[in-house]
Amino acid sequence: MKELINVENIFAENVFTMGKMKARLPKSAYKEVVRVMEQGGELSLATADIIAKAMKDWAVEKGATHYSHWFQPLTGITAEKHDSFITHPDEDGKMIMEFSGKELIKGEPDASSFPSGGLRATFEARGYTAWDITSPAFIKEAATGPILCIPTAFCSYTGEALDKKTPLLRSMEALSVQALRIVHLFGNTEAAKVIASVGAEQEYFLVDQKKAQLREDIIFSGRTLFGAPAPKGQEMDDHYFGVIRERIGGYMKELNEELWKLGVTAKTQHNEAAPAQHELAPIYETANIAADHNQIVMETMKRVAAKHGLRCLLHEKPFEGVNGSGKHNNWSINTDNGYNLLDPGDTPNENIQFLLILACIMKAVDTHADLLRQSASDVGNDLRLGADEAPPAIISIFLGEQLEDVVKQLVETGVAETCIEGGVMKTGVSTLPDFEKDATDRNRTSPFAFTGNKFEFRMVGSEDSIGSPNTTLNAIVAEAFCEAADRLEKAENFDKAVHDLIKEYMTKHQRIIFNGNGYSEEWVEEAARRGLPNIATMVEAVDTLTTDKAVKLFERFGIFTKAELESRVEILYETYAKTINIEALTMIDMASKQIIPAVISYTKELAETVVMVMKAGLEASVQRELLEKVNGHLKEMQDALMKLQQAEAKARAMKPGKEQAFFYKDEVKTAMDALRVPADKLEVLVDKRVWPFPTYADLIFEV
Ligand code: ADP
Ligand code: MG
Repeated sequence: MKELINVENIFAENVFTMGKMKARLPKSAYKEVVRVMEQGGELSLATADIIAKAMKDWAVEKGATHYSHWFQPLTGITAEKHDSFITHPDEDGKMIMEFSGKELIKGEPDASSFPSGGLRATFEARGYTAWDITSPAFIKEAATGPILCIPTAFCSYTGEALDKKTPLLRSMEALSVQALRIVHLFGNTEAAKVIASVGAEQEYFLVDQKKAQLREDIIFSGRTLFGAPAPKGQEMDDHYFGVIRERIGGYMKELNEELWKLGVTAKTQHNEAAPAQHELAPIYETANIAADHNQIVMETMKRVAAKHGLRCLLHEKPFEGVNGSGKHNNWSINTDNGYNLLDPGDTPNENIQFLLILACIMKAVDTHADLLRQSASDVGNDLRLGADEAPPAIISIFLGEQLEDVVKQLVETGVAETCIEGGVMKTGVSTLPDFEKDATDRNRTSPFAFTGNKFEFRMVGSEDSIGSPNTTLNAIVAEAFCEAADRLEKAENFDKAVHDLIKEYMTKHQRIIFNGNGYSEEWVEEAARRGLPNIATMVEAVDTLTTDKAVKLFERFGIFTKAELESRVEILYETYAKTINIEALTMIDMASKQIIPAVISYTKELAETVVMVMKAGLEASVQRELLEKVNGHLKEMQDALMKLQQAEAKARAMKPGKEQAFFYKDEVKTAMDALRVPADKLEVLVDKRVWPFPTYADLIFEV
């Protein structure tokens, strides 16, 4: 009998939800939780003790023996250290499992090895983790047995953020405070909080685990460093939204079930553009929870893949010449009394508020395009942005035809009288049309697109945390709201002041709007004329974090201190250097121990064939020509290998920092690319039987 699953029953089965808290906590304790969740502040230790006990009892009922403070250090992935609930046996030798309020709200992982960018001298190595009460605890079913995971923020003892979550929480707070000022001005005085909501669509590749294990590059760097294109690519478009194959279907089914149990609202699944590429989208939720859930999604994708004999590749560019993976970060801002501020609304009042908010976002994105670009950079994304498969590295905003026209009219005349769809555009006097996202008109090439009632930030890398992009978005928009509110709160004639502000911001920042083809060469030129930044790589984007403009922004809203920003700069350079170093060493290893030896034996075979064929009195020109070609590329490979070895050694000896990171980008990376060229040529010439590892065709067409 096929096992039927009941989604309603399993959903959030492994989450300590509000409902479970309500059922298991005394009323007063539950109320305190709700208060702290909604208004901030700290739990009393007495209440923390009560919650910890209830949480532990629930977890133990579900078979958990350990708990873990689950956090997101600057490595970009999650970290956990497991502690069991075990205590000293009592005098009768009986074990009582315990979990105290103190253990719940604060932890001290000995985390001296996590990157801190010099913020935390190693002698006082212990950072601490603090429970993020707004993100629910959950049970992870790992090989170690079920573990109670408590989502936490990770800070140094002096309070500096050492993770991706703390700044995100700070930025959400800042956005809420500033956005409230705006909505209050427009008469929504009921709203007590504004929430940033995020839905992150996640792309990924699945390959056969056994084949992947035969490739060091996939094992060590999550992507292929060698590989000639397969005879067939994605030119037939037969994979995109194609029928999902049995093996993949089985995987997706289990992935959904596992995610549902963890309270992740996995909603949509489909095949993506490239062969072996797929996508999963959850339903949007509060930004910090979405960030936690996206980490859970990535982790679960990998874990479930292993069970199906598959390997999940989250790298931005696992295969050269094949579309890479990204994450579409859908972002909106909502009041706690049910209004989405990015929804144009139905009344003139809502419309004007929407236009002001849009004007503020235009200002924010234009002013801080560099920061937004930085927030979406990671090592893998360098291989993808601007490569005709993902947005270019230039930030711009897509508004769609209708809305762009409204902006144009407002800029030109100060009023928008007409609407492209026909009918009367009624800004100021009547209402805006519905800016429904129009499926036929959606511009996939834009990095930041308005899609009806949200912005879709499409630049984010598939493997990256969505912490930084959302921190940056919240921060820059908070700043624009703050400056607008400063002016509007003082205005004598509010209506006129709003009108003037919309016109001023839209006029000044109109250059950030671009509805055309973002993949085209003309756009690169046009963007340069407009003075928009075009930051090609991750290392070039790092500096944007410590410009006066950035420091002022982040310090003003208490999101990062200058020291925190400087530490992140250090970590980013180091991360880049280390990642490229691993890739370089992997290439060196594969070239010298696998490819070159295989090709050498092949040339021996060929040489022997030539001799034997000639001995038999026949002409051996085909064999000889092949031998010559192969031998030529072999020599090129050997030379390129030596150059890479030299560059790598030089890079490794350098002091960590900006100069080293740039050396990796300019010298090591270039030497890596040069080594790949003859290797890929050899792959096509050499007998498949002797090629030392699975090829692209083996990996992406035979899953
Ligand atoms: P598409 O592929 O067309 O972009 P999907 O349905 O795959 O659309 O993904 C859309 C994502 O946007 C989903 O995660 C969805 O929950 C999210 N989303 C929808 N509305 C909002 C909103 N108001 N704020 C934030 N995210 C949203
Ligand atoms: Mg999308």
